[in-house]
Amino acid sequence: MKLQGSCHCRAVRFTVDSHTPYPYMRCYCSICRKTAGGGGFAINIMGEAKTLSVRGKKHVTQFRARIRGQDDARGTLSPGRRHFCAKCGSALWVADPRWPDWVYPFASAIDTPLPKPPEEQEIMLDYAAKWCAIPEGRGHSHFREYPKEGIADWHAKRNLTVK
Ligand SMILES: [Zn+2]
Repeated sequence: MKLQGSCHCRAVRFTVDSHTPYPYMRCYCSICRKTAGGGGFAINIMGEAKTLSVRGKKHVTQFRARIRGQDDARGTLSPGRRHFCAKCGSALWVADPRWPDWVYPFASAIDTPLPKPPEEQEIMLDYAAKWCAIPEGRGHSHFREYPKEGIADWHAKRNLTVK
């Protein structure tokens, strides 16, 4: 399915093809929370990098987070590149050179109606803010960090891959 996305001020618009458009994974890591997650989490879906087409490229800026461990004051730069609009600050997509075939748009940037996920995963809960009420019960699975099951596998296993 072709997804259309944009930032809030519309300086940046993009399209990307996705077979995996269900926004089922809520990430509570501190980077998502600070940069894109007003509710304490952000949701990324997955599209095919080679189909990404961007209008207003000059307004797109990248951010690479510095990840600090407990005994590691300087930290290391995250390989993930968080793309956002320099004019309005909207989070747009993440690209990571470790997975060059894919691009990970923020569900919040997508204008095309996305399919509603039949279940959700709450991930990176070791880093969640204390004030976050994490949804639980039927239809919710919790993970301290990333789940082993990737976005493509999640869709395939549930027969939700979109042709
Ligand atoms: Zn903008």
